[in-house]
Amino acid sequence: VSIRRWHAELAWLPTGVARDVLIEASGDRFTAVTPEAAPTPDAIRLPGLTLPGLANAHSHAFHRGLRGVAGGGDFWSWRTQMYALASRLTPDSYYELARAVFAEMALAGITCVGEFHYLNDASHEFGHRLLDAAQDAGIRITLLDTCYLTADPSGAPLSGPQLRFTDGSVDAWVARVSSYGQLPSHARLGAAIHSVRAVPFDAMRVVADWASDAAAPLHAHLSEQPAENEASLAFYGRTPTEVFADAGALGPRSTMVHATHLTPMDIELLGASGTTCCICPSTEADLGDGIGPAVALSSAGSALSLGSDSHAMIDILTEARLLEWFQRLATGRRGVFSPYALTVAATSAGHASLGWPNAGRLTPSSHADLVTISLTTPRTTPPPIPSAPRTPPVPSPVPSPPASAPLDEALARVVLAATAADIRHVVIDGRDVVRDGRHLLIPDLPGVRFL
Ligand SMILES: [Zn+2]
Repeated sequence: VSIRRWHAELAWLPTGVARDVLIEASGDRFTAVTPEAAPTPDAIRLPGLTLPGLANAHSHAFHRGLRGVAGGGDFWSWRTQMYALASRLTPDSYYELARAVFAEMALAGITCVGEFHYLNDASHEFGHRLLDAAQDAGIRITLLDTCYLTADPSGAPLSGPQLRFTDGSVDAWVARVSSYGQLPSHARLGAAIHSVRAVPFDAMRVVADWASDAAAPLHAHLSEQPAENEASLAFYGRTPTEVFADAGALGPRSTMVHATHLTPMDIELLGASGTTCCICPSTEADLGDGIGPAVALSSAGSALSLGSDSHAMIDILTEARLLEWFQRLATGRRGVFSPYALTVAATSAGHASLGWPNAGRLTPSSHADLVTISLTTPRTTPPPIPSAPRTPPVPSPVPSPPASAPLDEALARVVLAATAADIRHVVIDGRDVVRDGRHLLIPDLPGVRFL
């Protein structure tokens, strides 16, 4: 296998931002990362700041069909629209839609997606079309096959469009998920409990055991809306977090999505168990979910990851910024998450929560993913005035590395100002997927028609 080389003007390494970084890869893995190195003649120049691949830890590809639709009502009336959309999907239109969504992700520097997949069918046709769509868009995928059995915690039966999401029983879910066979190398299988509403307690235990036996990631929606907590308290006398804890669904391989409406005990259970919490700020704003206790979760021990969920927008850099901004709105304090902590959420923590622990770092043996952000766009160009003397940062409750080097200013500029539109080059598993802001595998992307 031949060696590929890139030469980054600036790159974010585990030790901080470094200059003139020569990055080498063989196949889908980095083999060497050398700061302050001269470019070799064959190295592709990467002007700007290069990050490891971004991870989108929570996606429902088909929700993209509702982007830009003006809506009244609340989360629950949005859900009715979403059900109607699901009922119109065919395997072919689902593939076309998902390929466009995943290609948009690649353009936004996302090198791996966690697809929380609940349009189930016994033949796995929808699941396989999602895997094909990710492959054709050039990104990796963790297919989080979702158990979805009931309409509420008391076990009320599904009806209407929700029937499309169910296997009928948890045993049928196990049999189906166990029959995928060998997945292609860009894909990994995980399990999901849709929510405390959709899976009875005994079935949660079965799903959690399956994920544990398979050493697979386990994801679940958690406390996105107050009504979900009220239904859980009414039936179980416990919060959704307490129910998941009792069902064995929390732990280092588990990711709870949203984690918005939590008690202090919930935060303690999530943090102490090492459960990752996936925050989806743009969707939580779009649907009026609320602002979760992300700082408290992080301080309690939960890693944070980020997802674009309903795809109101696909921009993990902006999701990271919104994570920080919403905490500012909620707490009246600025800088609760350092640029370092936000970048970890967007990269290594996200990949780890999807079952790819060797991704999201610019280090030898990691997946050869690179995302280069231009520092000369209208959003990212530094102002033409001398920078102010550096002041020591205010102590943050969230762990950060020691005093940052001057080059780390570039990381702050990207996390606090850049958007997906500033991303120029994306390499995924050693292959160039985006060059000069264009998707190389799907050049006709804006014309892709779906639905
Ligand atoms: Zn979701």
